[in-house]
Amino acid sequence: MRHIAIIGSGPAGYYTAEAAQKALGGTAKVDVFDSLPVPYGLIRTGVAPDHQSIKGVSRRYEKVALSENVRFVGNVKVGRDVTVAELQELYDAVVFATGAPRDRPLDIPGAELGNVFGSAAFVGWYNGHPEFAALNPDLSGKTAVIIGMGNVALDCARILAKSREEFAGSDIVGHALETLAGAQIERIILLGRRGPHQIMMTPKELSELGHLARAAPHVAPGDLPGEAEDALLEPGLRKAVTALRQFAATPEHIRAEKPLAIEFAFFSQPHSLEGDGQVQEIIIERTRLEEGRAHGTGEIEHLPADLVISCIGYRTVPISGVPFDEREGRFTNSEGRISPGLYCVGWARRGPSGTIGTNRPDGYGVVELIEADANAGVLGSEAKQGRVGFDALAKARGLDVVTFRDWKKIEEAEERAARDGSPREKFVDIEAMVRAGR
Ligand SMILES: Cc1cc2nc3c(=O)[nH]c(=O)nc-3n(C[C@H](O)[C@H](O)[C@H](O)COP(=O)(O)OP(=O)(O)OC[C@H]3O[C@@H](n4cnc5c(N)ncnc54)[C@H](O)[C@@H]3O)c2cc1C
Repeated sequence: MRHIAIIGSGPAGYYTAEAAQKALGGTAKVDVFDSLPVPYGLIRTGVAPDHQSIKGVSRRYEKVALSENVRFVGNVKVGRDVTVAELQELYDAVVFATGAPRDRPLDIPGAELGNVFGSAAFVGWYNGHPEFAALNPDLSGKTAVIIGMGNVALDCARILAKSREEFAGSDIVGHALETLAGAQIERIILLGRRGPHQIMMTPKELSELGHLARAAPHVAPGDLPGEAEDALLEPGLRKAVTALRQFAATPEHIRAEKPLAIEFAFFSQPHSLEGDGQVQEIIIERTRLEEGRAHGTGEIEHLPADLVISCIGYRTVPISGVPFDEREGRFTNSEGRISPGLYCVGWARRGPSGTIGTNRPDGYGVVELIEADANAGVLGSEAKQGRVGFDALAKARGLDVVTFRDWKKIEEAEERAARDGSPREKFVDIEAMVRAGR
């Protein structure tokens, strides 16, 4: 029997469990740990609450979670409740699927001012991640600045721009819905160092901005390169740039019908933030593109900024004893192998890029590596105790483990508490989750 511990129950974790189950069947027992009492990682706490169809992928993970020999071990944080060394004693292979939950720091003067957040915190707030549920952003100002030109920036802009009615059918948490409904924001500025051809936005998500009830996207026609240059772009980006061209072509009097403007500020890099305790202004430096890279021109501009959200990427949290690549912000690995017996998948392996599906081959690849290492005899020859040993350790340590059955009770309680038309009202603190699971 092969004993595998997967740390993290997001997409990468469950694709790995699925792969192990398919490749090894009844000869492997897989424990999927998570520090939260609830599974699915960013499917629950990252993917936008108004994109429910995307969250539907969790049904596939549930099938894996319910299959024989796979179990969920929730409310156990590896590195705090149990060490990696202890897990390695118990399991033949330990796979990190811990994602990249920390914001890459916004390294400019003033970043520590109030009402300046990273997207992990802001997204966690509206999605009910227990760590960020109490964030309480101040949305009483007129101008929000979002730094970054990727899909996470789009999510943040769209969530800030939507009316209460537009959240119908979403599972945005109640506290965020109420705060957003009272927001006074009239202007959302999306700031990007480079130009329209360098955005990291996908066309579908970008086009959504053109269909909002009370907000209209603004793109300055002068920022767009000549249309002929679009032909050189890969098809997805070309479509996204076409959406930008449509925004730029919308006549001013049509845009003005909407009270909220979402402005694309290209060729602008953040220089510093200013304010008196709380942010009031962002100072930007205009840039110029040279061979696809942004260079500061020295031309400085001041923009109002009552709220700043930086969407500039994420980092994996290091775990004691596991080699970490500081520059890349993820575990040091070769194709998912950290060392024989220790592996990583998903964002913990590659960094924060790609879609949910991009994590699937990681899971399948790492199971092949585990098999290759087992067959090469480098995983050690002694029989490991696996979950029996972990259960004994958890008992001795008084860990309050949440099982998949407990999670289903939490899920039912969340569904019962849902607002009209909403799939669920999430619990936003760990104790309430654990209580609901009992
Ligand atoms: C805001 C946002 C929106 C997104 N929207 C989309 C979208 O619409 N479509 C799309 O295709 N992709 C989207 N993505 C990308 C997608 O969410 C990721 O590709 C995917 O979640 C990465 O999977 P993962 O398993 O590596 O990490 P995660 O999903 O982050 O899962 C990591 C898990 O590990 C757990 N964990 C961390 N540390 C520990 C520890 N020490 N002990 C135990 N457990 C631990 C965490 O609690 C978490 O459950 C979005 C990402 C973000 C940030």
